Amino acid sequence: MECCGKPIHAWEMFRVEKEWLPLDLRCFIVGENPGFDTSPYFYDENRAVSVRTILLQELYQRGNISSPSLPAFRAAGFLFDHGIRCYLPNGDVKAERRLARRYASPRCAAAKHLKPWIQRASTIWIMGYIARNAVTSVCSELPKDVGKISRAPYPRQIPEAPRFFVSRYVTRAPRKEVEMIFREFSSLLKSMPNYPRTADPQHRFLTGRAFYSQGVPSGHNK
Ligand SMILES: [Zn+2]
Repeated sequence: MECCGKPIHAWEMFRVEKEWLPLDLRCFIVGENPGFDTSPYFYDENRAVSVRTILLQELYQRGNISSPSLPAFRAAGFLFDHGIRCYLPNGDVKAERRLARRYASPRCAAAKHLKPWIQRASTIWIMGYIARNAVTSVCSELPKDVGKISRAPYPRQIPEAPRFFVSRYVTRAPRKEVEMIFREFSSLLKSMPNYPRTADPQHRFLTGRAFYSQGVPSGHNK
C-alpha cells in the first residue's frame, strides 16, 4: 500500500514518540486517521481537536487523569495514535472505514506502526472500525467480529482478549452513548492491577484535602 506521499506524518512532525510517550504505557488509544495535512492534530496543543476535547474531559471527570490536558494524559500513562497515519481526504477515510468494517482496508493492513505500542500497553482502546481493522492486522490476539460496533454488546472489553476495549468513535456517538462508553472504559481501567489509586477522585476524597485542592466541583464525588 502506497503512503500518502507526504515526507513526514503528524506523528513525526509533533515528535510524539519523544515528547508524549508515557514512561509507563498503561493505555494505548487507537483512533482513525489525522485527516488532511492541514487538519488539527491530536498532539497539537495550540489547536482544538474534538476527539481530544472529549477524551480529556471525560477521563478527567472520572478521575483517570489529574487535569484535562495533554501533559496529564501522558503522566497518567496514555498514548494516542491513528490506525492510518497517512493524511487522507474525507471521502477516502469513508471508503477505508467501509472496507475496515469487513477487515478489508488496505491502509489498515499496513499499520505496522501500532505494533510496539500494542505490545507494551496494558490496555488498548480501539475506537472505530479503522482502528479495529488496523490493530487486528498487526496483532492476532484480538478476534475478528463483523458485528456493528455501535450496537450491543459494544462498547465492551473483549472477553477473549481482556486487555482490549472496543467502542465506536466517540465524536460520532450521541452524548448519552459517550457517557456510557467512558463509564465502561473507566471501570475496565480501574480493574487493571496497575491502576494508580491516587488518580481516583474517590480515593483523593478519602485521603484528605488533595481532592478539594484540585478544584473539583462539589458533588463530583457522588
Ligand atoms: Zn502517508
